[in-house]
Amino acid sequence: MAIAAIKSKRLLNELLDVCNANLNTVNEKLISKAFRLAAEAHKNHYRLSGEPYLIHPFEVALIVAKEIPLDDISVVAALLHDVVEDTDYSLEFIEKEFGKEVAEIVDGVTKITGVFRGKNINQADNYRKLLLSMVKDVRVMLVKFADRLHNMRTLDFMPLEKQRRIAKETLEIYAPFAHRFGLGRIKWELEDLAFKYLNRQAYEDIAQKIKDKRKERETYINKFKTPIYKRLTELGLRFEITGRPKHLYSIYRKMIKRNTTFEGIYDLLAIRIILEDDDPHQCYYVLGIVNELYKPIPDRFKDYISIPKKNNYQSLHTTVVGPEGKLVEVQIRTRKMHEIAEKGVAAHWKYKEESFSKEQDIEEWVNWVREIFESANRDEATKELLASFKLNLYQDEIYVFTPAGDLVRLPINSTPVDFAFQIHTKVGYHCIGAKVNDKIVPLNTILHSGDRVEILTSKNQHPNPGWLNFVKTHKAKTSIRRFIKREEDEIVNAGRSLWEKKIKKLKLTFNGDQLIKLANKLKFDNTKQFFLAIGKGQVDLDAVLNPETEKAEESDVKDLEFDKFASIARGAAGGVLVEGEHKGIIYTYAKCCNPIPGDPIVGFITIGEGIKIHRKNCKNLISLLEKHGDRLVPVAWPKTEGSFFVAAIKIRGEDKPGILQSISNSITNYKNTNIKSVNISSHDSYFEGTVSVYVSDLNHLNHLIERLKSSPNIFHAERFYS
Ligand code: MN
Repeated sequence: MAIAAIKSKRLLNELLDVCNANLNTVNEKLISKAFRLAAEAHKNHYRLSGEPYLIHPFEVALIVAKEIPLDDISVVAALLHDVVEDTDYSLEFIEKEFGKEVAEIVDGVTKITGVFRGKNINQADNYRKLLLSMVKDVRVMLVKFADRLHNMRTLDFMPLEKQRRIAKETLEIYAPFAHRFGLGRIKWELEDLAFKYLNRQAYEDIAQKIKDKRKERETYINKFKTPIYKRLTELGLRFEITGRPKHLYSIYRKMIKRNTTFEGIYDLLAIRIILEDDDPHQCYYVLGIVNELYKPIPDRFKDYISIPKKNNYQSLHTTVVGPEGKLVEVQIRTRKMHEIAEKGVAAHWKYKEESFSKEQDIEEWVNWVREIFESANRDEATKELLASFKLNLYQDEIYVFTPAGDLVRLPINSTPVDFAFQIHTKVGYHCIGAKVNDKIVPLNTILHSGDRVEILTSKNQHPNPGWLNFVKTHKAKTSIRRFIKREEDEIVNAGRSLWEKKIKKLKLTFNGDQLIKLANKLKFDNTKQFFLAIGKGQVDLDAVLNPETEKAEESDVKDLEFDKFASIARGAAGGVLVEGEHKGIIYTYAKCCNPIPGDPIVGFITIGEGIKIHRKNCKNLISLLEKHGDRLVPVAWPKTEGSFFVAAIKIRGEDKPGILQSISNSITNYKNTNIKSVNISSHDSYFEGTVSVYVSDLNHLNHLIERLKSSPNIFHAERFYS
């Protein structure tokens, strides 16, 4: 215990020293507090290497402070980056103790990590865009880069398969990102480490060859740089000449790209001259000196000082003919330019004038990063930057996951219905509900990048025309329209056959012109609209064709949707049974009380219109009975097995994870009841909506309602439109 305490004290001091050496302002108190919390939170955790887990956040913080030095907040967030995810401390706790900024960075890092967990990266491009669309504070990326770098440096302890997966992810996602963020050195290291785990043989082969050639190469470079060194020293310049570090992965990639051998690539020698004074003019001066000493190759000169690369890279590149006719690439830059190339914006910030406030600078940095990604292809440098992924697209798109972890790309503001149609037209057609990140949501909920979306379907559910008001994708729109059109055609056909039956029964004939006239008279544009309205039950044919019909039983406004479901239910039940002397007489259903299978019913003989079926408790019927009590006929719903009608149940309850599943279980577990559709929306922690079910009779329906009522999270359940 004492030893552990001493060791951890030593680590903290080391971190504080590095911070003080690299950062403009260091809140030692806050860093120490974060360090102690990390130590406490991870005290029982160990890494696969056997080291205490604390070493990991410590090393990550060290990388942030030393290799991507930006600010002390990033260091604090780095120390805490695994606390919320791996221990019992909550994000709220972090926010309370360390402030909102730190909490937001920790949250961002946790979310990004979760996005990749257990997933096989097969759409690297989409993952990169997903990452970018999730990152609101660039410091999230910095901490994540540092986390990834340390994990890559210690990858040896992971199982082989995991090594490969992480290495692939690093190469395809994080390294290109590090490049975009201007973090040259981190990019190279991530690539080389990934390369080592993905293709160990090629890696070791190249490493060995570099080692073998080192002597020869060093001798040549020395010969090459001696005259330059001499001249620059004579002129009193402060500078450093280095052989340029060769990155194994870039050599490998060039070998593949140019289809050549190691020797073919490695013959290209390179040196770098770094000038200590922050004066770009010196670079051109030194360029002149180099060109005097060695003959330059004209078309190989690049001036990234006058025209910096989009990630702020600045340097002069020239290729000259050295001794023995060998080509040598020379890069000339100031120390400041060099640090920006290596450490990206973190270095950029270090060189800022004192007058800039920290907030302003970070703001500027964020804007700069955005600009990189959002800029249109203005020049060659930008094109080059955007070559591997066109991030200017990302702002119009979101990336969401299926429950299996596949990525789906959607336009911004898409909804679960768009997602469903994107997965498959069938899923869209039968979508009854959705869960986003395990929480039930209305179907018009706006999705966000990184969301995990689960669609609940029922084979009896069909697209709702209302969906057209919120869907964003072309696919969803056209599929819904196509379905509505098809459904409409069916209703038109049903309406036409209703019409034909009716005129046949009344022994009427209509030619085409007469039909159009009638339709127009009733304010329909054409006969199709007329038949559609008939099919939907919006036209009372009796009234249209026989204005003399008794109006006694006509009730006021009818709910058309109810009419539709009533007619389906009656059809499914097989109509009513009329027994005895009235058997065979035509019957219709009274519109005043709209009886449906399961309701107690009775028949009433009308003049010229056969039997009207009423509910036994219908008020109209009761008043009719005062005069015509003798016209009653006993009728009943057939007691056939296996015939069902549709009934709707209104429910209200508490919106808990799994609620939709629990509702549907509660229904389907009773007599194998089929659900036709579910339409639920949630408000804060409550939901309400309707469930349409196929029931055999009223008893069946009442049982379902009782079952739903007894569910713990359902406050209210009742028959809808009863
Ligand atoms: Mn970590």
